[in-house]
Order: sequence, then C-alpha cells, then structure tokens
Amino acid sequence: MTNNSSKWTLFLDRDGVINKRKVEGYITRVEEFEFLPEVVDTLREISPFFHRIFIITNQQGIGKGIMTIEALLDIHHFLSNRLRDAGVYINGIFFCPHLEGTCLCRKPAYGMISRLVHIFTDVNPRQSVFVGDDIRDILLAVRIGSNPVFIGSHSPFPHVPAFASLSDAKEHIINLRTTSNQPFYRTTSKPYKQDKQPQP
Ligand SMILES: [Zn+2]
Repeated sequence: MTNNSSKWTLFLDRDGVINKRKVEGYITRVEEFEFLPEVVDTLREISPFFHRIFIITNQQGIGKGIMTIEALLDIHHFLSNRLRDAGVYINGIFFCPHLEGTCLCRKPAYGMISRLVHIFTDVNPRQSVFVGDDIRDILLAVRIGSNPVFIGSHSPFPHVPAFASLSDAKEHIINLRTTSNQPFYRTTSKPYKQDKQPQP
C-alpha cells in the first residue's frame, strides 16, 4: 500500500514565472528564451519537496500562426535540459496551442490538468501548489483545489499571496508543502497563547 499523503505536485506557469516575458509578443525561438534571475537555483531548492513538477502554459502564438509546435518543443527541450543539468526534473510540460475561446484546455479552463491527471494517476491537485503570474493561473488553481501562489505586484485575490519572483516565493511554497501535509495540526489546534499559564 502506498501512502499518497507525501506525493505533492508543483504546477508552474512558464512565461513570467520561469522565464522573462516578451513584451507584446511570443517567445518563438530558443534564442529568445531567458531564465528569470535565480529561478534555476530556486527550483533546485524547492524540487525535493515535491514528488512531481509540471509546467502548464498557454501558447496561443501557435494558434495565431506566429510560431510552430516544433519551435515550441525546441524551447521546451532546452528548458527541460537546462533544469535537468541543474538537478531539477520536470515531469511534463503541458501547453495549450489554441486560440482563446476555441478549446477546453486554455487556462483558466482545466483541460490540461484533466489530461495530466489521466496520465499521472498519482497526482492529486488538492495536494499541489500552483504558481502563476496571471489571473488565469489563479482561477485554474482555485478551480482544481490547488494552493495558488501569485508572482507579481498585485494579487488578483486578497487571499492569494503575491511575491515579486519565484525566488521570493520559495519559503512560502515550501511552507505550504510542509504545513498542509499535517492537517491535524492545521485544523484542530488553537493558537498558543504565550501569556497563559500551563494547565495542571
Ligand atoms: Zn487549448
């Protein structure tokens, strides 16, 4: 019998979380792909806390005819290899190539996640953290019961914490992973009052 309680998943948006966004455009070639500062080191530190790590990304530049799927796969091979060289194993990169409003997989729809959990049957979205820099990421995270983490200056929802970068969010992500795994302590214990005398 396996104990699934330790099997946590990390979902990462790509552009704006892992690599620099291209202003008013799509990253169409490997040469344009640039990791954000400290992302590789941060993922190396975070990855031991997660059983699986996935990248979930909207890439409607393909649907618009601005880039090809082959070019996107080249970029994703580069990204995966670079992280693997650093000791970070990405279990899968799921992308939606479709135009907005034409499919059931473009975030905030959950088509990519339903496909993912069909393949990776040990993934439980309720035991996951979802990091994104767009309201669509947060909406999807909430929809699937994940723990959302927003990268950016203004969180779209008051209960979702915002961090300037993945590096800044590191401690929070690790805390989510470690404290949420102990629901007994989280849900039943009252705050301990320092000034209260110990009961006999
Ligand atoms: Zn789609």
